[in-house]
Amino acid sequence: MFIRYKLALLFSLVVAGLLTLFSAVIYQISASYREEEFQGRLENKARTTARYLMDVKEIDNELLKIIDQNSLTSLFEEQVLVFDEHNRLLYSSLDDQPPQYDPALLAEVREEKRVEQSSDKIDLIALALPSSLKASGSEYVVMASAYDKFGKSKLIYLRNTLMICWVVGVGLTVVVSGLLAGLFLRPIATINTQIQQITAQNLKERLPEGNGRDEMAQLAINFNQMLNRLNLSFEQQKSFVSHASHELRTPLAAMKTDIQSGLEEALSSEEYRLILRDLFQDTQRLIGLTNGLLQLARPLDPVLRRKLISIPELLLDIYAELSSLRKAQKLVFEPLLDERRELLVPGDEALLKTLFTNLIDNACKYSPTHEAFIRIRSDATHCLIDIEDKGIGIPPEDQERVFGPFFRANNALIYSGYGIGLAVSQRIVEWHGGSISLRSTLGQGSTFTVRLPLS
Ligand code: ADP
Repeated sequence: MFIRYKLALLFSLVVAGLLTLFSAVIYQISASYREEEFQGRLENKARTTARYLMDVKEIDNELLKIIDQNSLTSLFEEQVLVFDEHNRLLYSSLDDQPPQYDPALLAEVREEKRVEQSSDKIDLIALALPSSLKASGSEYVVMASAYDKFGKSKLIYLRNTLMICWVVGVGLTVVVSGLLAGLFLRPIATINTQIQQITAQNLKERLPEGNGRDEMAQLAINFNQMLNRLNLSFEQQKSFVSHASHELRTPLAAMKTDIQSGLEEALSSEEYRLILRDLFQDTQRLIGLTNGLLQLARPLDPVLRRKLISIPELLLDIYAELSSLRKAQKLVFEPLLDERRELLVPGDEALLKTLFTNLIDNACKYSPTHEAFIRIRSDATHCLIDIEDKGIGIPPEDQERVFGPFFRANNALIYSGYGIGLAVSQRIVEWHGGSISLRSTLGQGSTFTVRLPLS
């Protein structure tokens, strides 16, 4: 069911419930008031009749009947009965019909002294009153009953009015709440239609942000921000694919030329050896490139098994590996590693190894002395590792961009590389919940600082 109809239905049900409650309360209060007021009138009638009959000696039954029937307060279908202490009927206000009463009521009223009854037709009050003429302790009973014609017809009128008001009120609420819900939800319907028109081809389209303040505007703003992020990542993907194909094409084109010239010309064995060496280098480059691409493209599993890694020990391992591979490199640790062996970081050993190898490799590659200076520090929550070199440095305008895939600064183009290492390193650091920053002065050197949360 549409939210619009749900809202209208819910609101109408609430209003219908409230109207029912109010109508019932109003009707009940009016009915009680009518009963109370009519019983009061009946009691007056009963007491007046009793007083005339008992206290005014000159009055006889006939005269009393005439007074009863012609008084201003006479009631519809009125009947007043008076019984003596032996339950003998002393007086009945009706002379043309036999008096109607429930004999059991006589016993009840002598016990209770006052009984009130109200039925659909008749209201009745019965009182046990002390006789002033007879011996003390003797009581006579007066019963007054009548039909409250006006009160009951007023109640019926009130009930009908309330029912009509209920039907009209609920009907109006259904219509008005349906219209209002439609009005308030219209912006959502508009947003829906606009969203349907946004596809991967027109990710630059944006939703109108309305007044910029209410919830609908907030929804549109958030949606637009999500589109911005999506668009950015689409653009990054596109540029990644085009860079990757470009990088792969270059060595492949060189290999093709080498193979062509080897096939077409009769060459000396020395020349074939040179071609093979070139092919070997290009293949090496292709392998390096595809490895880097794989590292970039492979999603880092968020539930990869993390264990506590001692950063100083890890760096010593890398040092050992690198020095056995390339003698020219030199790593200098400050301060002495032994003092800081306890620096433990929860993480993945292989990934952290890739990260530091990339940074140390770069420091050695881009400095004439092939030296990397490593400093390990810590604050209350993080382990900080500086990898510094006294090399070529990075131009200020490129310092932000070196972490993007395939970016290589102009002063680095004479060195071998693919522009992938730093992008991979940044992903690894972020996966560990850390950060990487760079300080560099052109021609003087660079310092990369990795910040990793301690265990
Ligand atoms: P690669 O070194 O293969 O080009 P990276 O992603 O590791 O790729 O580095 C990207 C770019 O950042 C490099 O091409 C270079 O311009 C710059 N760079 C990285 N490290 C250094 C460094 N230590 N000194 C100077 N430039 C650096």
